[in-house]
Amino acid sequence: MNYFSSDFKLGILGGGQLGKMLLFDTRKFDIQTYVLDPSNEAPCKIACDKFFKGDLMNFETVYNFGKKVDVLTFEIELVNLEALVKLEEEGLKVYPSPKTLKLIQNKGIQKDFYTKHAIPTANYKRFANLKSLIVNILDSKLKLPFVWKCTEFGYDGNGVKVIRQISDLDNLANVECIAEEMVPFKNELAVIVCRNPSGEIKTYPVVEMEFHPEANQVEYVICPARIDAKVAEKARAIALNVSEKFNHVGLLAVEMFQTEDDEILVNEVAPRPHNSGHYSIEASYTSQFENHLRAILNLPLGNTDSKVAGIMVNLSGEEGFSGDVVYENIEKILSWDGVTPHIYGKKETRPFRKMGHVTIVNKNIDEARKIAEKVKNTIRVISNN
Ligand code: ADP
Repeated sequence: MNYFSSDFKLGILGGGQLGKMLLFDTRKFDIQTYVLDPSNEAPCKIACDKFFKGDLMNFETVYNFGKKVDVLTFEIELVNLEALVKLEEEGLKVYPSPKTLKLIQNKGIQKDFYTKHAIPTANYKRFANLKSLIVNILDSKLKLPFVWKCTEFGYDGNGVKVIRQISDLDNLANVECIAEEMVPFKNELAVIVCRNPSGEIKTYPVVEMEFHPEANQVEYVICPARIDAKVAEKARAIALNVSEKFNHVGLLAVEMFQTEDDEILVNEVAPRPHNSGHYSIEASYTSQFENHLRAILNLPLGNTDSKVAGIMVNLSGEEGFSGDVVYENIEKILSWDGVTPHIYGKKETRPFRKMGHVTIVNKNIDEARKIAEKVKNTIRVISNN
């Protein structure tokens, strides 16, 4: 099929920042795109060829949108799965496949998948709701502490809570959940794997993630991870294995824990471009977005190696500020070498809302880390009202 400067249409479910960054590459290749998103102010709106406003969880809306395009992908996992299944049954190419998405959308099912395929992961128990979890604690069948995770609709750590005492469960929703053993980890790592329908497969280098202690959002992503080469090799091999077991198409971001004994445990996966791969826009030969596009269109995959060390700093809304966004000191960080801000285009800031990110590239990773810290302490996402 001819994708370039043709009538071919790529459909993207979700119009957020991941979609917007994917659209840089569809524009580069002159590939037509249709985007569906519930918000009229979606970041994608300015860069797609045609924008449709609609509910991503509604069967009819997603199905009708799918009927307009030649290949369908998504930038968010919370989409109507039944519509994707039906579209795929009717012959539409949906990548990643709804079969993969089904295994991932529910954290309980995802964990069972790892167990079934002997992929190392933290021990866990599944519960139909919070009440039955509490019964298990009272019957001494579940020991504290553990990590509570709701199985569906959690994102960026908001469906996750460390439970040290029973009162920590107060105010949690009575929904399906898992209780996971606390992992004493040295590092949180991620590997992005890309795979096309012909089975060509490549991994990006292992990255290291540093989290904000309160917001549970990634603060720095560091590429390459400053870890032992053997551990990195192990992480890459596990990510490849996970990808092969899912038999996915497109990108699969595999998040992992490096334990104190240098074991690697898979935490969770995301079947799409991922926050941990944003550095690749500036630092890699081929960005994760370009490779996602190449993969879902069954084109040859691009080189995933880095040209330079890259560090990404998330720009989230400062606490105490809500309203029209202002990026304080953005000119200042722009005056430093190797610093590139990405502004997602959300008009309103809220505490911890992901508003953008900044990439820092440098030949020397320690230098990059120093500049990243300076960037983080200089730019502020605030509002002027
Ligand atoms: P989300 O899907 O919201 O990103 P995660 O499962 O990735 O949720 O958990 C968010 C964060 O919580 C992780 O990045 C990690 O810092 C911490 N966490 C999750 N599971 C565990 C665990 N079993 N042990 C210790 N910390 C954990």
